[in-house]
Amino acid sequence: MLRYFIWTIGCQMNKAESLWIAGYLDSAGWQVADVVQEADLVVLNTCVVRQSAENKVLGMLGLLKGLKKEHPDILILVTGCFVDSDIVGLKRRFPHVDFFFKPGAFSQLTGWIQQKLDVCSTLDTQHLTLEWRTPSPCAFIPIIQGCNKFCSYCIVPYRRGREISRTVEEVVCEVKGIVGQGVKEVTLLGQTVDSYGGDLPERRDLADLLTELNGIGELDRIRFLTNHPRDMNQKLIEAIASLDKVCEHLDLAVQSGDNDILKAMRRGYTVEQFRKLIYTIRQCVPGISLSTDIIVGFPGETEEQFEHTFSLLEEMRFNIVHVAAYSPRPGTVACQKYKDNVPLEVKKERFDRIEQLQTNVATIINSAYRGETMEVLVEGQKKGKWYGRTRGDKIVFFNSDDNCLGQLIIIRVEKTSPWSLQGSVEYKS
Ligand code: SF4
Repeated sequence: MLRYFIWTIGCQMNKAESLWIAGYLDSAGWQVADVVQEADLVVLNTCVVRQSAENKVLGMLGLLKGLKKEHPDILILVTGCFVDSDIVGLKRRFPHVDFFFKPGAFSQLTGWIQQKLDVCSTLDTQHLTLEWRTPSPCAFIPIIQGCNKFCSYCIVPYRRGREISRTVEEVVCEVKGIVGQGVKEVTLLGQTVDSYGGDLPERRDLADLLTELNGIGELDRIRFLTNHPRDMNQKLIEAIASLDKVCEHLDLAVQSGDNDILKAMRRGYTVEQFRKLIYTIRQCVPGISLSTDIIVGFPGETEEQFEHTFSLLEEMRFNIVHVAAYSPRPGTVACQKYKDNVPLEVKKERFDRIEQLQTNVATIINSAYRGETMEVLVEGQKKGKWYGRTRGDKIVFFNSDDNCLGQLIIIRVEKTSPWSLQGSVEYKS
C-alpha cells in the first residue's frame, strides 16, 4: 500500500487545497503516513507571504533532501505560493524535488501522478471533496483562485495568477455533496472572495452564490473570507442582512489607517471610504462581528502614521485584528521601490501595541456576552471540553457527556476572555 504525507502552511486556501489533494490520493487508494519518513510520496503545500514562512519551506526542503538521499525512491512534490513561473530555475535549485505544480493546478498533479504511477483515476469535484479525512461539520470551499489587485507588498498575484471563479453550479453541486455527508457549515474562500464572479460570462456575483447556497436544506451556516473593501458592495451587504444562513461575520482587511501608507500599498481606498463602509455594514447588519488585518512597519511608516492606524482600530473596535510586521517580498513593487527602513524593534513595538490594544477591546466586547445565550455549532473536543463557534465567529467551550459533534446547541455564557467564551448547555436546537 502506497503512503503519502502532506505538509501544509499558510492560509485557509492552502489547507483546503491540501484536503483536496488528500481526497484525491485517498480515492486513488493511497494511505496516510503518520510521519514523513514513512511516506512514498510527500507533498509540500507552501506559503511565502512572509520571510518567516518561506524559511520554514526552505527548512522542509532541506530535510527532504536528506531523506531523498537515504530513500531515493521517495517522491517529493511542491505546490503553493513557493512555486513561481520559473519551474526550470526551481528544479535547478532543488533537484531532489520530483514535481512542482502551481497552487490549484490539480489537473497537472493528477496527470503527473497517473503518468508516473499509472494510477487510473481522473480528477473531478466529486472525488476531490468526498474524502473528508477528519469528520468535521465545517468545510472550506475555494470559490475563486488568484487576485487581480496587485497590492504593492503582496506576492500572491504573482504566484496564484489572475482571478478565476468557479461557476455557481459547480460550487452548489459540491456543497450539496458534502452536506449529504454531514457538513453543516461552509466557508467560501478566495484571496478576494467578494470579487467572485467578475470573470464569469454570466456575471453572477457572491450575493447570487450566497442566495443559491442559502436554499440548500441541510446546510445550517455559510461564511466567506477574505474580503477586499473595494469589492464590498450594497448588494452583498444586503445579502448578509437578509439570508438566514449567512453568518453575521465579515473579515475586511484595512491594512493601515493612514492614507499615504494606503496609497503606497496600492490598496485603492482611503481611510474615509473604509470608515464609511464599516458604518454602512453596521447599520445594515446590527451586531455584525468584524475582523481586519493590519501591516505595521510598511516602508517609511512614521510614528504619526502608525498612530493613525492605532486610532482607527480604537475607533472601529473590531472583534479580531490580525496583525503582521511588513516583510519585503522580492518581485513585489514595494520591495523594488521602497527600502525596508523601519527597524525590526520598531516593527515589534508597533506589533505589540496593536496586540495589546486588541486584547483590551476584545476583553470588553466579549465580557458583554456573560449571561447571554448563543447558538454554537460544535466542531470538536479539546482537552475534554466540546467547542464550537457562534454565528459571529466566537469560540465557545462547554462540558457535555453527550456526543455533540455537528449539533447546533444553545449555550449560556458564564466566563469570557479576549479569545474565547465558556458556558453550559441551555438546550439543543
Ligand atoms: S488583495 Fe492585495 S493583499 Fe490581498 S491577495 Fe490580492 S494583492 Fe495580496
